[in-house]
Amino acid sequence: MSLWFGQIAMGYTLIITEKPDAALRIASALDVQGKARRMRANGVPYYVAKREREIVVVPAIGHFYAVAEERGARNHYPVFTFKWLPRYMVEKNAKQVRVWLETISKLSDDADTFIDACDYDIEGSIIGYCILKYACGNKEAVSKRMKYSTLTVEELEKSYAEMLPHLDFALVEAGRTRHEVDWLYGINLSRALTIAARDCSGKYSTLSTGRVQGPTLRFLVSRERVIRFFVPIPYWSIKAEVEIAGSIFEVEYEKKIIKTKMEANAVVDACKEKKGVVKKVEVKQIRQMPPAPFDLGTLQGEAYGLLGYTPMRTSIIAQRLYLDALISYPRTSSQKLPSAINYRAILTNLSKTQEYKELCGELLARTELKPNEGKKEDPAHPAIYPTGNSPERPLDDSERNLLDLVIRRFMAVFGEPAVMQSIKACISINGYSFFLRGRQTLKEGWLRFYKPYVRSEEVLLPEIEEEQTINVRKVILEDKFTKPPPRYNLGSLLKRMEEAEIGTKATRSSIIQKLYDRRYVREERMVVTDLGFEVLEVLEKHCPQVVSIKFTRELEEKMDRVQLKSEKREAVLLDAVEMLKPVLEELKSKEKMIGEQLSDAVRKAQLEERTIGVCPVCNTGKLVVLYSRKTGKRFVGCTNYFKKQCNASFPLPQRGTVRPLHRSCRGCGWPSVLVRIRGGRPWTLCLNPKCPLKAERRKRIEVQSVR
Ligand SMILES: [Zn+2]
Ligand SMILES: [Zn+2]
Repeated sequence: MSLWFGQIAMGYTLIITEKPDAALRIASALDVQGKARRMRANGVPYYVAKREREIVVVPAIGHFYAVAEERGARNHYPVFTFKWLPRYMVEKNAKQVRVWLETISKLSDDADTFIDACDYDIEGSIIGYCILKYACGNKEAVSKRMKYSTLTVEELEKSYAEMLPHLDFALVEAGRTRHEVDWLYGINLSRALTIAARDCSGKYSTLSTGRVQGPTLRFLVSRERVIRFFVPIPYWSIKAEVEIAGSIFEVEYEKKIIKTKMEANAVVDACKEKKGVVKKVEVKQIRQMPPAPFDLGTLQGEAYGLLGYTPMRTSIIAQRLYLDALISYPRTSSQKLPSAINYRAILTNLSKTQEYKELCGELLARTELKPNEGKKEDPAHPAIYPTGNSPERPLDDSERNLLDLVIRRFMAVFGEPAVMQSIKACISINGYSFFLRGRQTLKEGWLRFYKPYVRSEEVLLPEIEEEQTINVRKVILEDKFTKPPPRYNLGSLLKRMEEAEIGTKATRSSIIQKLYDRRYVREERMVVTDLGFEVLEVLEKHCPQVVSIKFTRELEEKMDRVQLKSEKREAVLLDAVEMLKPVLEELKSKEKMIGEQLSDAVRKAQLEERTIGVCPVCNTGKLVVLYSRKTGKRFVGCTNYFKKQCNASFPLPQRGTVRPLHRSCRGCGWPSVLVRIRGGRPWTLCLNPKCPLKAERRKRIEVQSVR
């Protein structure tokens, strides 16, 4: 018994969790009095719960181990040998991990029972496995496993009582396979690109690609190519304004796209100043089924569309709500809600909040509650649902919004189908058919529960009868051009990745972020940069498999089979190496050519990144981000300064990143930049010190503070 942990009797149970908040919740739930003792050693928190025996719960903080090269050489490829190492040996900024692991290791010395209570999924399982194996001295073989989807007291108690006798090794193997395969791809391909560019230009700039990153970039580049080569074709369309029972309605000519102006003019001329006759009225009833409960992807999509949160942000907020025991585990791909979660209990708890009282009451009054489930399943967790607990601390706006979305979605899932009536009336104007459309909600059903988040566009029509004569007020001819498909945004790209089945729910949003970090894309509507283009072109040309969607999906399927125990980890790894070998040889043999292509693009990207726009003072120079030689502080200056022609300079915030917006200020037309400070919302900064928008904002803030 070490003096170090003198307060705890020997022979206790050691529980490992993924995050500190989870450790506190588990310890409190298992303590007979509901109050675990908070302890701290070397700055590492852990908790002691009293029960029939003592339980020590110690958290991790995410991944403590990572796949790394056997020997620490950093500048060569191919590399196919690796091992799992603590992160402090692999990364620069992971000193804390060392102390943390030493603490867990000491805590494990006097423990006689081990329980892995990390999140029950691939990532959680691998985190628990590595800690038990490497930090606790091969305890992975004897450890038990707690499985839960919410951090509520009831579920944790149940999970402890019914814990699994051993780790879920299939999940562990699947996790190892993913990390190892991704490492093999990432390290080799990224090094090939980086080294090629560096040897050519003599400058170092990290270029990367990965198993999923490459195909994702490809989606963006293909779309960008379509947009760049898009030639808009003119076409015409016709609508008319008609008057029915004193109200004006718009009707559409049956042919939506008219290819020649001549044809369009002929129709307009023929319809001008004529009366219309109702030819046919079609009334249809449409049942709109309630939505399925949220899996992570749909939650991210909905939160992006309705609240403007990036998938990454949603994922982080959801994680916090989960750790506060307010919602169930968010990293799920399930759209099922098993009855075991106890719908009634959740609704009863939710009904204690004034906002949801009435709606919950309505559902609780029913004799039977049946959720409308979706198709997707997840063996580890149900869909995302609220626990019904009330927040124990004040939530911030984004947390409150996301929780509200989850709660309303949960209620809506139990709602009845909505019934809509659609009316389509065909109106003939001098023999040409126009359509009048109406839409009306007959029965609200589930829409009531999901109200702020559904837009039901109603167009109410007056009574219309067949053969009724109708006044045509005017016929309108519209000139139009065909449009290219829209650029991807975070929501649509995430959806595209999901459809293509590449990446996992846990990794997709960070892969997208990486594309921004590497400067392959910019802006919210993702524009591929020249660098992004060049990287993809190099990969497409020299190693097409690496960016092949089909190939990536096949590998994805193989890895999924590891989880189902129908494929061995070793076999998948061997396949990956066999596939990479010739690819890397090819890249190496073309290193010089690839290097030229890439270093050129890197140079341009670096310049582009610093260039903010045309100087509004001299109108010929360019504004670029510069660093003061004296103070090291950054500011914006005009390139004409170096020719002694322009003195324009503007201050910049010293913290965070500054990116050109490639868009001028709405208020004054000056160039503006996007400032992003870690942990905060990005904001735009107009360089003009006298910008009228700034004065306005200042006024708004003053007004707010007065209130
Ligand atoms: Zn200037
Ligand atoms: Zn401005």
